[in-house]
Amino acid sequence: MTTFNDFGLHADINRALAAKDYTVPTPIQTQAIPPLMKGRDLCGIAQTGTGKTAGFSLPSIHHLLTYPHRPTPRGCRMLVLAPTRELAAQIAQSCRDYGRFTKLSVSTVFGGVPINKQIRDLAQGVDILVATPGRLLDLIDQRALRLDDVEIFVLDEADQMMDMGFIHSLRRVAKLLPSRRQNLFFSATMPKEIAHLAEQFLEDPVTVSVTPAATTVEKISQFSTFVEQKEKQALLHSIVASEDIDRALIFTRTKHGADRVVRHLAGAGIKAMAIHGNKSQSQRTHALQAFRSGDIKLLVATDIAARGIDVSGVSHVINFEIPNVPEQYVHRIGRTARAGAEGKAISFIAPDERPYMRDIERVTRSKSEPMPLPENFNELVRNLPKPVAPPRDTGSQGRDPNRQRQEANRGRGGGKPQGERGPRRDGPAGEGAEGQRKRRFRPRNKSVGAHKSAVKRVG
Ligand code: AMP
Repeated sequence: MTTFNDFGLHADINRALAAKDYTVPTPIQTQAIPPLMKGRDLCGIAQTGTGKTAGFSLPSIHHLLTYPHRPTPRGCRMLVLAPTRELAAQIAQSCRDYGRFTKLSVSTVFGGVPINKQIRDLAQGVDILVATPGRLLDLIDQRALRLDDVEIFVLDEADQMMDMGFIHSLRRVAKLLPSRRQNLFFSATMPKEIAHLAEQFLEDPVTVSVTPAATTVEKISQFSTFVEQKEKQALLHSIVASEDIDRALIFTRTKHGADRVVRHLAGAGIKAMAIHGNKSQSQRTHALQAFRSGDIKLLVATDIAARGIDVSGVSHVINFEIPNVPEQYVHRIGRTARAGAEGKAISFIAPDERPYMRDIERVTRSKSEPMPLPENFNELVRNLPKPVAPPRDTGSQGRDPNRQRQEANRGRGGGKPQGERGPRRDGPAGEGAEGQRKRRFRPRNKSVGAHKSAVKRVG
């Protein structure tokens, strides 16, 4: 069996791994670290939760330590691009953890927070910069950042980047990078257009792939219930009351839909918070912390806001609305059943969502088990409590859902659930307005594909 000691990583990294109690590398780490240590480009097909962050950051930190020099002012030696603020913050934290016994500097830049502090942070240059594409380009436009000294470039969650409309930003970034660099490209899925994007960044890459979609899905018990859209809220209350939930992620397609679910739960005194692109950074951080710490057991999220979030102990994923892209379903339910634990996914299927569920079952080659509506469902629908605004914008402050079982089943008041229907696609939560901004498209520089004839590092 491979251990971390077999990789020949810098002693300061091994110390950090020991401090984190990592002994055995995950499959993606076993496959990715040796070629990365030799300076190869890498194309990784892997989801969050597989250990890919350590897979790319450990050999990169090793490189930065092996060839030490100060970063140039306003420059960075390693650049990691991630689609959402949460993922960027998480990656930066991992780099800090793995580099904690070194003097390497790590900075994060993303939209939704003031830019001036980020400009100051970058003035002296940093070793590792983790960024979302929109803010990265803003900083470049303000001449606060230059990319001509990047030695290692990592593009994480490329499929999500494409979904969020970052393609032109990525092409612009590619043109600003130096020709001699090492490239790492990660995506949970590899449809044709992503493979094409990968070709533009990578030179003779090693490809590694872990946990194909179908395998991930097989580990999770999947259930589905046919229910009218306007009755989904009552079904959610009933499930929260009857299931033994440690932590549940509830997915809606839209930001407003997520807020509505929180208000309805609050109406029944059930504690929940929402996380999506209309929330401020501090609200999102607060909601995630509350979910991680167990202070709230229900987190309502849009797909994009939930991407990359790594919270252990998620016992349930509830698809309040069904995604129209099958891969999105795989990402969603992959939030549960982490590290071999059992997970349960429950999908609420309105009549017009049946075709989406059929597509999902075809792509994942799995079938969910029918879960009948509860016996007293009509009564629950009739007595659904009225939605109320959570006391603070961060979410409702009601009581623990498990203590609410009786109450939720009994129901109070006679408010009608609002329809949850909204646009099928959520905006780019990760970047707020920044991600939606149209950037002027410049035709792809031919050198993007051609300028990588050499990489700095040789084995
Ligand atoms: P990632 O897919 O990089 O987000 O990692 C998922 C989780 O696994 C994170 O909480 C990591 O801290 C943890 N992790 C990564 N590699 C290892 C390892 N070799 N041993 C134990 N935990 C790990």
